[in-house]
Amino acid sequence: MDSGTWKERNRERAADLPGLLEQLLGLHAEAAGLEWITLPWLGRPTAVQYAFRGMACRHWDIESTLQHVAGLRTHDAGPLARERELIESFRRRSWRSLRDLERNYLGISAADVARDDPSERPLSWNGESIWSVLAIARHYGVPTRLVDWTHSVLIAAFFAAITNPQCDGAVWWFDQTRFELAVHEHWDDWCVPLRTDGSGQRAMEQRAFDDKATKWISKIHHGIPFHRMEVQGGFFTACGRLEMRQDKAIDQLQTPDRNGIPRGRVIIPRALKKRLLDELERQGLRATSLDYPGADCAGWQLARRSPDLGEENRCTHAVVP
Ligand SMILES: [Zn+2]
Repeated sequence: MDSGTWKERNRERAADLPGLLEQLLGLHAEAAGLEWITLPWLGRPTAVQYAFRGMACRHWDIESTLQHVAGLRTHDAGPLARERELIESFRRRSWRSLRDLERNYLGISAADVARDDPSERPLSWNGESIWSVLAIARHYGVPTRLVDWTHSVLIAAFFAAITNPQCDGAVWWFDQTRFELAVHEHWDDWCVPLRTDGSGQRAMEQRAFDDKATKWISKIHHGIPFHRMEVQGGFFTACGRLEMRQDKAIDQLQTPDRNGIPRGRVIIPRALKKRLLDELERQGLRATSLDYPGADCAGWQLARRSPDLGEENRCTHAVVP
């Protein structure tokens, strides 16, 4: 793959585990540094925060699970229709087993439940609550356009190491505070209107799910508390257009100094994956503590083996014994 301007800070792979931990924890220390910048919509200085994402193969781009699902690129009615089909099918099949809060976001009322009758009302695709609907679907394993990030470099390292022992992994990172600042400056270019509720937020959903979609990228706010997101220090980003690669979208964000937002990757050598996982486990970080059961892992691998997977993302590395 072409990692664009995501610089690998230390181009040489860490030769040993202490060297790798130094690279990772160096980023963590940098993110937790003393730098503060003022976000105009808050009107006060905010500590710089980094976002991290671990990927088990260094050759994978940053794309959503929806971009990997079978049929997305070849679906007769197009990718947007495929996205709707998946979410609406999830809504029809899952509503009985969901929490009230979740059902509420899916537009299924208590009366519907009492009648044991899934609502015939169509899902609202241009209202703010659609982001919560996507977050719920994502939580239950449905491919969506959301991409997960974490504020913990070690959690990202875990996901970069837990699968694909035959591949070098990568921890991707970016300066989330400057990302939000840059996104804030771009909304008008992207033709994304303000919400009409006076919140000062942008109505991204009006430029995302039909032919009015524009090329925005943003952090996604949703109203659903999920244990897994909390223990993983997680949040989502999404793009306005389904075909966008998120690493490219982040690359293309302009900043006043023209360098774009600070971002990069740390390679997790395959030879160190097992020892890294052992070390993380010593620190209390393992699949169960991250609420990351094996089923998810299997689902992820299935998605990765999907026949619709782009050639550039297909992992063709031979297994190293
Ligand atoms: Zn690979």
